[in-house]
Amino acid sequence: MAVTIKSEREIELMREAGRLLAKTHEELEKSLHAGMTTKEIDRICEEIIRSYGCIPSFLNYNGFPASVCVSVNDEVVHGIPSSARVIHEGDIVSLDTGLIYKGYQSDAARTYGVGEISKEAAQLIEVTKQSFFEGIKYARAGNHLNDIGTAIQKYCEQFGYGVVRDLVGHGIGTEMHESPEIPNFDMGRKGIRLRAGMTLAIEPMVNMGRYDVAWCDDDWTVVTEDGSLSAHYENTILITDGDPEILSL
Ligand code: MG
Repeated sequence: MAVTIKSEREIELMREAGRLLAKTHEELEKSLHAGMTTKEIDRICEEIIRSYGCIPSFLNYNGFPASVCVSVNDEVVHGIPSSARVIHEGDIVSLDTGLIYKGYQSDAARTYGVGEISKEAAQLIEVTKQSFFEGIKYARAGNHLNDIGTAIQKYCEQFGYGVVRDLVGHGIGTEMHESPEIPNFDMGRKGIRLRAGMTLAIEPMVNMGRYDVAWCDDDWTVVTEDGSLSAHYENTILITDGDPEILSL
């Protein structure tokens, strides 16, 4: 599938989708606390998204049963909310969610520490977030796709972290997952040339240990193979002729 270039009208809709998704994350952060279940987070998330007149894009996507992926500690992504899973003080919790506004999608993820977390865990969260910003320095018309992932990988590996290989970012628009796939690492070839009007979900997934991951029996939850902590940070961005515009922040 070709990479879509959005019209000015489509970009306006994606700006609004992104703005509402940023607000969703702000509300979710406020509600996150030790003692709640991951199912409660999902209930709150769906309520917020619907209160904006939007559709939770994750719900029923390929059969995913919730509006938000809640991935705790060594869970990398795609954790399924559960009434049996309680958030504890000291956990790190990744919340990945998306919404549809008038047919246009936005996708974003954040990782938070709950209560007091270790210095090491706090650094992992901070470096993962910063790696997104290091990557998007290269997200400009005329550059190539691989410039983004290479910058993300370089930044994270300075800290001895493993950048997940088996999952990648993606184009986004009327579909949650559009072309191209966007690795967070050097894929060894330049990839497509970036053009103004492309909208992309850039989402580094970073492990404190090795980059290898495994899938749980639920066929969704991805965990680090070595049991180390993992963090995730994502925004939907717009490529322009100048600096990229972060739509979901
Ligand atoms: Mg995504």
